[in-house]
Amino acid sequence: MQLNLNITPYYQNLLDSLGPNHPLRRTVEPFDDRAPAPGELADPLGEEAHSPCPGLIHTYPDKVLLLATLTCAVHCQYCTRGRLITHAHTFKGMGMGFSSHWKKSDEKFQGLEKNSKPQRSCFQYLETHTEIRDVLISGGDPLTLSDAELDELFSRVWKSKHIRTVRLGSKVPAVLPSRVTPELAAILAKHRIWLQLHFIHPAELTAETTCALDTLAAAGVPMVSQTVLLKGINDEADTLADLFYGLLERRVKPYYLFQCDPVLGSSSFRTPVQRGLDLMCELQGRVSGLALPHFCIDAPGGGGKITLLPDTVLRRDGHEIVLTNYQGKEYRYPDDETVS
Ligand SMILES: *Cc1c(COP(=O)(O)O)cnc(C)c1O
Repeated sequence: MQLNLNITPYYQNLLDSLGPNHPLRRTVEPFDDRAPAPGELADPLGEEAHSPCPGLIHTYPDKVLLLATLTCAVHCQYCTRGRLITHAHTFKGMGMGFSSHWKKSDEKFQGLEKNSKPQRSCFQYLETHTEIRDVLISGGDPLTLSDAELDELFSRVWKSKHIRTVRLGSKVPAVLPSRVTPELAAILAKHRIWLQLHFIHPAELTAETTCALDTLAAAGVPMVSQTVLLKGINDEADTLADLFYGLLERRVKPYYLFQCDPVLGSSSFRTPVQRGLDLMCELQGRVSGLALPHFCIDAPGGGGKITLLPDTVLRRDGHEIVLTNYQGKEYRYPDDETVS
């Protein structure tokens, strides 16, 4: 999916200071070589099929994703929701299969226009579905909304008394840190919001971003991070270790490392799954356990997130289980299946 260039002056300055060949540039600049590869889809997570009303995606029993806006501060060229982001466009000479999928996407989400707030039907759904415990507010980037709009949005979500936790996904602290004011932090803290922040590279942890994260931490806002594993951009153990330690230092717990979703035209960003497993294995033996995220694939078709782990159980041997550690050495643990 090709998205138009959308960037903040702050992030443009950061890229300029990093030089013309820094890999972060590729994540935001449109490029031509985007032929769709086998298995790629406009909607790789099958979100349209799990959308009971425009702007709401319900794939797990306990939790829902609420798309609060389709506006982002910066367009990431590997965006899994590019089909919905305004001014996203597909390829020249695109086949019919893709174009019909594209039209279907448009129809399903037609109620959620750029800058529009979630519809009444979303809040009615939250209220009537008493099994929901966890609302993840995403988009677009919800921190492109105003303080007053966010305050109202959180109040409306919390009206459903069965909800236990509300989170908000955002890349704003990385790309527009000046948006993070003490007033914004106070609203997030007042509504007990967990922030789920998108960071992909240690170069994003600038003095300005550090200041924004300090403001949020000082207000008592809990923060975790999500990182997409990107070929040639952050797929080295040293880069990831630097990023994860940098986040921990700023009181952000690394939560997920995602295998890049197979969105149309994403092949230049995607690494082999084994690469991610090897990186996790290398990091596991090295970094603080707190710095380690879960490595996962968001299953195509709406299967949800599937965590991948390097294989550590080698085999069973009589009354022992044979394990391997991060160095590849074997260890035995007494494990009698008949003992309970
Ligand atoms: C990622 C996601 C969630 C939240 O999943 P967690 O693993 O609990 O962070 C909820 N709903 C949808 C549709 C998602 O894609």
